[in-house]
Parts: sequence; structure tokens; C-alpha cells
Amino acid sequence: MASYTGTCNCGSVTVTLATAPSMIYACHCLNCRRAGGPFSMNYILGEDEVTVHDSKNSRKQYVDTNTTSKATVKRTFCQNCGSPLYSQAEKLAGKYFVKASLFDEITMTKTDIFQDRQIHWI
Ligand SMILES: [Zn+2]
Ligand SMILES: [Zn+2]
Repeated sequence: MASYTGTCNCGSVTVTLATAPSMIYACHCLNCRRAGGPFSMNYILGEDEVTVHDSKNSRKQYVDTNTTSKATVKRTFCQNCGSPLYSQAEKLAGKYFVKASLFDEITMTKTDIFQDRQIHWI
């Protein structure tokens, strides 16, 4: 299968995966909602499965300590266009929560996280 590449809105940052992941994780926590959308769509992958190209050094990281689980989450986004790129949770070292919204084609199989915070009309 061909590699799977996504990009932020301005195109400064691209994220490439070897193949499209089979499962998407929808996070309904309030902090993901504030970062854009009624929930965030994530592919949870190992560091070795994710290749990030950022030739203009556009990435910025927000260290989020006020999360639902009280665990620190580093949220990386493009400081040029504001697109969320990926998050890394302290509790899941070595894992990337890559934002599936970067990719044109999105995996259909879904698991929900923090569903108690889900907006009722979803
Ligand atoms: Zn951008
Ligand atoms: Zn979340």
C-alpha cells in the first residue's frame, strides 16, 4: 500500500505514515474540543511509524497540564496556520496521537475516548 501523507492548512508541515491506520480514536475531552472541532480524531502510533517534515521550523508545542486525566499532554501545532498536528501524552511515552484531520482520507473504524464529555448531538 502507498504511504499516507497529511498536511497542515498552510503546507509547512507534512506527516507521513507507512500505511493508513486501521483504527481512529475520537477524543471528546474539553481540551481537544478547544483545539478545534466537536472532538479530535487521532491515530495512535509509535514514534517509528510517524515521519514529520517541517523544513520551515513551523511547529510549536503547548504543554497542557490542565487535562481531564490530570496527565501532561504536549500538543504540537503549526504556528503559521494553527492546525493541530499531534499530541504526546506523558502516560504513553513513545506514542504519537497524530491528528487524522490532516489527511484527506480518514479511516472509518472508530473508538471513543472520554465519551462522558461527548456533545449529545454527536
Ligand atoms: Zn501550517
Ligand atoms: Zn482529548
